[in-house]
Amino acid sequence: MITLQRALLRWARQARRDLPWRRTRDPWAILVSEVMLQQTQVARVVPRYEAFLSRFPSPAACATAPAAEVIRLWAGLGYNRRALALHRAARAAVAGGGRLPDTLEGLAALPGVGPYTARAVLAFAFERDVAVLDANARRVLSRALGAAVTQAAADALVPPGRSWEWNQGVLDLGATVCRPQPRCDACPLTGACAWRLSGRERPDPWPRRRPQARFEGSDRQGRGRLVSILRDRPLAWDEVPAAAGWPDDPGRAEAVVRSLVAEGLVVAEDGRLRLP
Ligand code: SF4
Repeated sequence: MITLQRALLRWARQARRDLPWRRTRDPWAILVSEVMLQQTQVARVVPRYEAFLSRFPSPAACATAPAAEVIRLWAGLGYNRRALALHRAARAAVAGGGRLPDTLEGLAALPGVGPYTARAVLAFAFERDVAVLDANARRVLSRALGAAVTQAAADALVPPGRSWEWNQGVLDLGATVCRPQPRCDACPLTGACAWRLSGRERPDPWPRRRPQARFEGSDRQGRGRLVSILRDRPLAWDEVPAAAGWPDDPGRAEAVVRSLVAEGLVVAEDGRLRLP
């Protein structure tokens, strides 16, 4: 094992954050956590993860519920499409025998599950030797290696048989030490990190993501408002502009509703709108 791996694994043992999805190897629970964490911060996810799993402890429990119930439980997490995708993934798992697949191809074929989430389930539920490369992990490993990390390079770094603790350690390091402003003096990789050893004179090899578009005033905000009201009651079409927050722009409000209907998040029926 190379110095970098040894140093990170040693640090990871004592620095590990205690998170509820780290106390299980249940693939369904891991999938739920990963889908929730895709665009929402850990602190907001924890209580919702626990509530979700107590209502839907298995793919079968989720699959047999109406989608509306899954969308209701998603309140506060945003990006409601994820709730619908998770519901569809549960139904696909049930159709396939009731369990989540344990292969990259099988997982990635589930609705809403991309290669990143599929790898996270493989590593954190099935303890397979694959790298989980989210934005934090990309930052850590790119800096440590001194160049933008590829999936293949990250996979090659996973210590055989120790993928679970390795990946959790990389994520913890990115969340707490190798932040956008790195705290190299507190980092276990300080003696093995290529960027640090170069004196950080070369440009930061961290491949930055494009900043998220503004939420305030966006279509996303209007979508969120509409779904939020629909969690409590159906809406008549003429209520839509005010409910979306655009009382003077009914055309925009209607276009947003049509996109929600096309995605399956909202049903238009008998002149009213409701959750599916
Ligand atoms: S030494 Fe600095 S740049 Fe390198 S991994 Fe640690 S915190 Fe990040």
